Amino acid sequence: MSNKLVDICVNLTDDVFAGKEKNIIDAANKNNVAKMVLVGNDLDSSLKVSSLAEQFSFVATAGYHPHNAKDWNEKSYDRLLSILKNNHVKAVGECGLDFNRNFSTPEIQNSVFLNHIDLAKETNLPLFVHERDAFHQMHSIIKDSIKDCDKIVVHCFTGTKNALIDYLDLGVHIGLTGWICDDRRGKHLRDFINIIPDDKLFIETDSPYLSPYISSKKPEVTSAMKHLNKPEYLVEVAKDVAKYRNQSYDYICEITYQNYLKFFGIDK
Ligand SMILES: [Zn+2]
Repeated sequence: MSNKLVDICVNLTDDVFAGKEKNIIDAANKNNVAKMVLVGNDLDSSLKVSSLAEQFSFVATAGYHPHNAKDWNEKSYDRLLSILKNNHVKAVGECGLDFNRNFSTPEIQNSVFLNHIDLAKETNLPLFVHERDAFHQMHSIIKDSIKDCDKIVVHCFTGTKNALIDYLDLGVHIGLTGWICDDRRGKHLRDFINIIPDDKLFIETDSPYLSPYISSKKPEVTSAMKHLNKPEYLVEVAKDVAKYRNQSYDYICEITYQNYLKFFGIDK
């Protein structure tokens, strides 16, 4: 039994954490977060998280976030491939489609995402997917690829019940963030997150974004806690996920830890 938490999405290379990585990790450890997946979102950050993961015995991913898909060039595939050969790099991503803000055009996002699927097939590593306002396109791409790329997590799921059902039908894993704690944006999720099978569930902070305290009215919650998320706050996500799935906090720790070991191929 493990009663430790794993945060499967920490953006530790974000500028707000620069120079404070060790403090952020120590504080998370003190708050029961034993492991983290450090996500890469472009070539530079993928290199950085690879070395941070080695330093702190965590797991890293390597890929281009859809916002950064426009920076993909003819060397990107081979460069990512060489990062993915590092022992601590256990997934391809984060990658995917984000049609909410379209920082890269949908066409570029689409073609860069397909390159990541090729990388996952070539390396036999899981795919770490970001999808926002692009469910139909994403579902159809995953449906076509899943037979050759069978470990996929759609992180930070915030969609509808029908979208969740369709993703689960394909066999993908689902990551839940502090949206679940947000009385304004995350309320709809509370009615149906119990349909995620135990063996497909992950929890995450996506820090420094999406603080679980954003809509909290508790007097001890400061404005800094609302606006700067940290991996140490994962316990709040775990508590709410437990509450709305009608499971215990310890049980959420146990299943998400086991899923982490299995999905990312960790030996112990
Ligand atoms: Zn994301």
